[in-house]
Amino acid sequence: KENSRNNYQFFENKLNTDALARLILERELSQAVENNELILHYQPQVCLLTRKIKGIEALVRWQHPSKGFLPPGEFIQFAEDSRLIIPIGTWVLEQACLQLKKLNLPELTVSVNLSPRQFAAPNLLDTIKKALSNSGLKGHQLELEITETALMKNMANAITTLKQIKSLGIQIAIDDFGTGYSSLSQLKNLPADTLKIDREFIKDINKSTDNSVITEVIVSMGHKLGLTVIAEGVETEEQVEFIRQIQCDMAQGYFFSRPVDEVGLIKFLSMNT
Ligand code: C2E
Ligand code: MG
Ligand code: MG
Repeated sequence: KENSRNNYQFFENKLNTDALARLILERELSQAVENNELILHYQPQVCLLTRKIKGIEALVRWQHPSKGFLPPGEFIQFAEDSRLIIPIGTWVLEQACLQLKKLNLPELTVSVNLSPRQFAAPNLLDTIKKALSNSGLKGHQLELEITETALMKNMANAITTLKQIKSLGIQIAIDDFGTGYSSLSQLKNLPADTLKIDREFIKDINKSTDNSVITEVIVSMGHKLGLTVIAEGVETEEQVEFIRQIQCDMAQGYFFSRPVDEVGLIKFLSMNT
């Protein structure tokens, strides 16, 4: 009994520490935007036929005051759960539009990730319109990425929202494709432009027959549905060669460039355009 009481107390203390840590994180994250602690990095998206850069994906990082540089994996889910994703996502969208406008490269698009909560927010359209009008960026230079899983949560709503977004000239990409459970019939109803094959399939494409077959099927299915197909997480020459052979349209990954800050992006673009 004694023991179990002690255990209980330990458990309770642990809970309190976790709750406190979450509280602190929430307060820090809620101030991150106004403290200018968020930074966007950009990763190029390359056309496999011409090797030209067609777009860049904006990926957020947090320069935490004491913990250092945090990747999105360490705070985006927390932001999503605590609703802080709304102000953070708005900042990302505005910043990404301003950045591309500033680069003055009308042939390029910028891709911005939308979380499930952002995608379902009632004022999403206004937020997007504002980011475009504030920056002066044209709708066709913006692409919004929504994960397959988020889209499948509520197909009817997703279709309505996607149609509204597309009416602004904006392109839609289905992110992390292959990790969700969409059926072909659902997919064909989605007004999307791009299919992004998840990195998990690309990772051992040259080692696993399963994954190479899956990737090939996704590419041909995407094309039959009129979508542009892009492979994520391309790291090696062999992977580039394989996806090029199966007619995948574009690629993104460390082989071409890691996500880079504004200075790195300008350098990369000056060497590759
Ligand atoms: P994602 O949208 O699928 O982004 C691709 C992720 O793969 C990025 O990780 C990128 O750095 C990484 N990656 C790209 N090429 C390679 C490669 O060749 N090898 C490997 N190992 N990794 C590669 P990152 O930047 O850590 O972002 C992770 C996820 O966080 C993103 O996945 C996205 O879901 C989310 N995220 C990032 N920025 C935002 C944002 O502004 N808003 C929202 N809602 N989510 C974001
Ligand atoms: Mg993405
Ligand atoms: Mg992805």
